[in-house]
Amino acid sequence: MAHPRLPILPEENSLRVSSPFQGELTWPPQKEDEQPRALRALSRIVDGGLCHRCGSCVGICPTGVLALDEEEYPTVKNLSACTDCDLCVKVCPGDEFSYEDLFEQKFGRKPELEETHGEFQRAVLAHASDESLRAGSTSGGLVTALLVDRLKRGEIDGAVVIQSDEDQIWKGKPVVARSEAELLQATKSKYAISPTNLVFEEILRLPGRYALVGLPCQIHGFEKAAELQQALRERVVLTIGLFCHAAIEHEAFRIIWDSLGEKTRGAERFVSRIGKHPGAPHLQYADGSTYPVYFGEKKGFRPSSMEMINILYRLYTPARCLTCFDALAEFADIAVGDPWMAPPTDEIDFHDGWSFALLRSARGEAAFQEALEAGAIGAASVTRKEALACNKQMATEKRWRAFRMIETHRRQGKSIPNYGRTSSHFPHHGGVQFVETELHMLTHIGCFLPRIRGKLLRFFLGEGGYRLLWLNNKRRTVKFFLRDQIARIRRNLFGRGTE
Ligand SMILES: Cc1cc2nc3c(=O)[nH]c(=O)nc-3n(C[C@H](O)[C@H](O)[C@H](O)COP(=O)(O)OP(=O)(O)OC[C@H]3O[C@@H](n4cnc5c(N)ncnc54)[C@H](O)[C@@H]3O)c2cc1C
Ligand code: SF4
Ligand code: SF4
Ligand code: SF4
Repeated sequence: MAHPRLPILPEENSLRVSSPFQGELTWPPQKEDEQPRALRALSRIVDGGLCHRCGSCVGICPTGVLALDEEEYPTVKNLSACTDCDLCVKVCPGDEFSYEDLFEQKFGRKPELEETHGEFQRAVLAHASDESLRAGSTSGGLVTALLVDRLKRGEIDGAVVIQSDEDQIWKGKPVVARSEAELLQATKSKYAISPTNLVFEEILRLPGRYALVGLPCQIHGFEKAAELQQALRERVVLTIGLFCHAAIEHEAFRIIWDSLGEKTRGAERFVSRIGKHPGAPHLQYADGSTYPVYFGEKKGFRPSSMEMINILYRLYTPARCLTCFDALAEFADIAVGDPWMAPPTDEIDFHDGWSFALLRSARGEAAFQEALEAGAIGAASVTRKEALACNKQMATEKRWRAFRMIETHRRQGKSIPNYGRTSSHFPHHGGVQFVETELHMLTHIGCFLPRIRGKLLRFFLGEGGYRLLWLNNKRRTVKFFLRDQIARIRRNLFGRGTE
């Protein structure tokens, strides 16, 4: 099928491919048959809305043909170097990912598509022992503490992490951090989509042992790349996956940046969370001072990072995230997220900073245990029942959202990701699940309205939005208070159980 938009440009030109939600792309089309077959296939993946923007294709290209554009989509920078080897297409997890096969291969059993947490040996709550790291991290600093511990004991030479881009500080920039200081610079989640797997190129070029921190789709990209390049499999000795509901389109951050006006002058970091869990985003300046990203001039209530991210997700979830169902990094050695659960004991206060982790593989378990025994991290146990309830709502919504979107796209004849055998038997959503999924999809309607979502976001950054956010905050406070009280009463009556 001929594509009206072909995201491959001749040498020296740069290309900008928009997500299907983002409007037009105009550029002079080339004769398709003059381009390598692989690049035409790659262009169809991007053009069909299947690109995660994971960076795998760019990172694996042996001749440096590809680069990323401003929105992190692949673009051609050096057409004449292309040998049509097809690696960039074969590695692409956005187009094809054999979920069931890989699951069986790794865990020795078939996955149940409706189960959200995947296979894990043990679930834990944990935090960095270093108090400044704990306070300066996203959740409890578990990810960074594990990496620092691995580096110190010589188990890794570096780790793939996301630092802040120097020019556009709300943007993430993948790097291979090779010192403790570089690892510490990469703490905190960057919610703008970031192309982690770009660094395959460096890992393939420079022998050593590495850890890789990535979102579920980036871990998928790694798994595929490691099948194609044995050196990657040997060099990446630990994968840490982050839980992920969705990433956020850059356009949202550009609007937020504009709303900050003069305050952006001199800002050195865009920190996703500062303060008590779940914290609030701040700009950070050279002298260490900070300014809140949202409603900095207001006294009293300010929305938390989570409250604002919920708005951003509703409006700016990228197209491919809507067809992605791995929420809890099912293929990572260790999967880490926030503890969205009632505290399991009265001694644990999530405001102190805690990460929740699923230890999925033997090497994940070993890395965790060694850090614990060395005193680099502190931990509390979580029963299987508690673990399965943690992040359940997000993961369930994401799963059914993807099943629903894929089926809709299939019916409409649009491009859909190929999840291998899994694709032929997505569960059918009926009854209560149907209603819940449709309601959830409605909350994402802004993602399908590219012309008005900018206006909606600006509204939420203004006085009217502030009032709605205040109301929502009260609702959430009551909801979480009730959740924690009910959990406490249940615990006192029936105990925690071991299941
Ligand atoms: C886009 C996104 C969506 C998320 N959604 C959820 C969610 O819905 N529910 C939930 O419980 N948790 C979610 N998380 C995970 C959560 O925000 C924390 O990253 C996680 O709890 C680890 O916290 P920590 O304190 O242990 O990590 P830290 O010690 O603070 O380290 C964070 C690590 O994450 C890496 N990183 C930061 N941004 C990115 C990125 N964009 N891509 C790849 N790596 C990155 C950093 O390089 C660093 O190594 C999300 C994270 C991201 C980036
Ligand atoms: S490999 Fe990643 S960045 Fe490249 S086209 Fe596929 S999903 Fe997009
Ligand atoms: S990976 Fe191979 S086919 Fe793809 S751009 Fe590079 S050289 Fe061309
Ligand atoms: S929702 Fe899926 S595709 Fe989107 S960033 Fe998260 S893991 Fe990647």
